Amino acid sequence: MMILQNLHTHSTFCDGKHTPREMVEFALAKGFSSLGFSSHSCSNRPDRIKSVWLERNEAYRREVLSLKEEYRGRLDIFLGLEVEAGIDIDFTPYDYLIGAVHLLERNGEYFEVDSSLAITEDAIARHFGGSPLDYAEAYFRAVAEMPETGRYDILAHFDLITKFEEQKHLFDENHPRYVRAALDALDGVEGKIPFFEINTGAISRGYRTTPYPAMRWLREFKRRGFGAVITTDCHNGEWLDCAYEMSAELLRSAGFTERFVLTKEGFIPTKL
Ligand SMILES: [Zn+2]
Ligand SMILES: [Zn+2]
Repeated sequence: MMILQNLHTHSTFCDGKHTPREMVEFALAKGFSSLGFSSHSCSNRPDRIKSVWLERNEAYRREVLSLKEEYRGRLDIFLGLEVEAGIDIDFTPYDYLIGAVHLLERNGEYFEVDSSLAITEDAIARHFGGSPLDYAEAYFRAVAEMPETGRYDILAHFDLITKFEEQKHLFDENHPRYVRAALDALDGVEGKIPFFEINTGAISRGYRTTPYPAMRWLREFKRRGFGAVITTDCHNGEWLDCAYEMSAELLRSAGFTERFVLTKEGFIPTKL
């Protein structure tokens, strides 16, 4: 029986459906032995006020730490954060950090790469001369630069820009420029971010039928010695264990024999 753990968990403190307590109850009902919360951090978008986020995040931290005490012995709870690359905040209170690129900036305008197909198409048209490859290069460059601004444990959803590919095919993932950009991103984070996630969040929300990242990158993560972490990027507790076995199977197919789970002693490898 595989150990069930999810370190990529959202709640009503950001864009999740359930409160942290409800997520804890889902975790117990589904047989999890541990759960890590990873609220979204603030971002550099000027319309998102940092002081508002700081206040809300303080409440988030207090709530998760209080649940950690309350459920001690029944569920190991960890306090994490899904950090938007490039922001300047105090990282010390967290058990672990997930580093992510959701936001790109062009000509003073910010856009999220995972909001909707319409926003993606609009950004490609207006900021990248209609070239999805230029857009992909900008995204992967931002991933490559992540270690310059923060120290992360887990690299989030490596090829997030492919979120809407099953709705509409935009990216030629075999194009030499796309491949080069992704490999450059891996060069940038290798040896600096120890773990990557296989992430089923877009499956539970109906966008995709397979997790991030694509098999090609799973093999590349393996070849380069990254540790694998299985996450469900959960925004709704009912999906806390979404496609967990599929993720394990994909990791095995890519050559992994173990994946990492977070314990009170840090990340440890466990057999797949
Ligand atoms: Zn994310
Ligand atoms: Zn997330």
